[in-house]
Amino acid sequence: MSEGIRTALFGGTFDPLHNGHLAIAQSVIEQGLADELWLLITPCNPWKVNRQLLDDRLRYEMASQAVKDLPHVCASDYEFNLPKPSYTANTLRHLSADYPDREFLLVIGADNWVRFNNWKEADYIQGNYRTIVYPRQDCPITDVPQCVTILDCPMVNVSSTQIRNLVKEGKPIDEFVPAAVARTIKNLNLYL
Ligand code: ATP
Repeated sequence: MSEGIRTALFGGTFDPLHNGHLAIAQSVIEQGLADELWLLITPCNPWKVNRQLLDDRLRYEMASQAVKDLPHVCASDYEFNLPKPSYTANTLRHLSADYPDREFLLVIGADNWVRFNNWKEADYIQGNYRTIVYPRQDCPITDVPQCVTILDCPMVNVSSTQIRNLVKEGKPIDEFVPAAVARTIKNLNLYL
């Protein structure tokens, strides 16, 4: 595994970003597990038929605004220009080639960790990148190899689905999302 600016990658659709996501990003930085954390915004997969995501750029802008005063945390649109769907192994390969001065680390939830062996090129990822696993409800973290760190982080009981539903029902969301996200949703009448 390479050395360099330790850059933690926290991927998601962030539709929208909420306080549960922020708690993870902050904990990674505050606990010194990485020098920077990038919120890697997953682009809309054109072949996925289930749910229409909010526009890629808009999700990226909302996340960028929300973390602009958070030291060492930023949003990244890097995957927008990669072939879709974005497989983590492919993204990591590209990032490592484009940023040779950085060491990339993966930030994933315990729910994903239990299924990690099913990920495309799981062995390549584990052999080349350190992973930070954060706790999720009802998801015990077992079989932890040396390249994996368990994040000590509060569990915030919120999801983007919940936020979108609250907006649809005309209910307040301010306690669940950063102010910048609440503002944009209101100003642009999103999720109605
Ligand atoms: P949705 O409800 O639309 O499925 P989400 O809230 O799960 O969205 P994602 O953008 O899919 O948000 O989240 C990115 C990552 O953050 C996922 O791996 C997800 O498991 C994790 N995550 C989501 N909500 C929380 C939370 N409250 N605490 C910790 N992790 C979370």
